[in-house]
Amino acid sequence: MGEESVEYRTAVTVDDFRTNLADVQARIDSARERSPHGQPVRLLPVSKTVPEDRIRRAIEAGCTELAENKVQEAHRKWQALADQPVTWSVIGHLQTNKAKLVAEFAREFHALDSVRLAEALDRRLQAAGRELDVFVQVNTSGEESKFGLAPQEVEGFVAELPRFPALRVKGLMTLAVFSPDVERVRACFVLLRDLRDRLQSTAPEGVDLSGLSMGMSGDFELAIEEGATVVRVGQAIFGARAVPDAHYWPAGTDRVPPT
Ligand SMILES: *Cc1c(COP(=O)(O)O)cnc(C)c1O
Repeated sequence: MGEESVEYRTAVTVDDFRTNLADVQARIDSARERSPHGQPVRLLPVSKTVPEDRIRRAIEAGCTELAENKVQEAHRKWQALADQPVTWSVIGHLQTNKAKLVAEFAREFHALDSVRLAEALDRRLQAAGRELDVFVQVNTSGEESKFGLAPQEVEGFVAELPRFPALRVKGLMTLAVFSPDVERVRACFVLLRDLRDRLQSTAPEGVDLSGLSMGMSGDFELAIEEGATVVRVGQAIFGARAVPDAHYWPAGTDRVPPT
């Protein structure tokens, strides 16, 4: 996937953002043409670490949705940008004690991985009179350091979800292995798609597993070829992050910075 050789230039002006968004969208469109799955693909821009003034320019350039990994950072930006026409997704691992924050403002949550968390979210959402679109996170790489359910746990987990009426289940989510070996990365995406295909017919009523949230700046074209319906793209839109990814993911998942 060659991420090591890619330079992500920092987008500053509205024009920079227009250029990057058009470029990413063009790459999405051509990957869709290569995909045998014929699925719709939604671009979810990831604005973690990006300050509010630059986020405003991204919105002016056409971003209508934004995603953040850390809930406090997302909540702070949601408050600061309340005047902006944009909706928020939380895409990172969430501790149960932070469910209340998510319930307050998020439209979508991509990292559902326990019944306790589902319970906490549902209770807080009901109290707030809100609902939330959710994706169930699956660990497709087998790495200890990655969050998410083991593939064999997903069927049992999904069977519990109708108990939580404020959660609208939309599909499965994964982070692929970080590897220059394209076939190892592809195998993670194929695993998620196969799991979705297998579980879709047995999923309880009201539980929609059709969505596949997979692919980021370094691997979204591959993910789309394998059936992604949502790609979570940060650096290819906003530019390289100064903060190491270890800050956002568990230890051991940090990638080599672009050289
Ligand atoms: C940061 C992040 C992304 C986007 O990564 P980029 O390399 O910036 O595209 C996608 N998914 C999750 C869960 C993330 O934390």
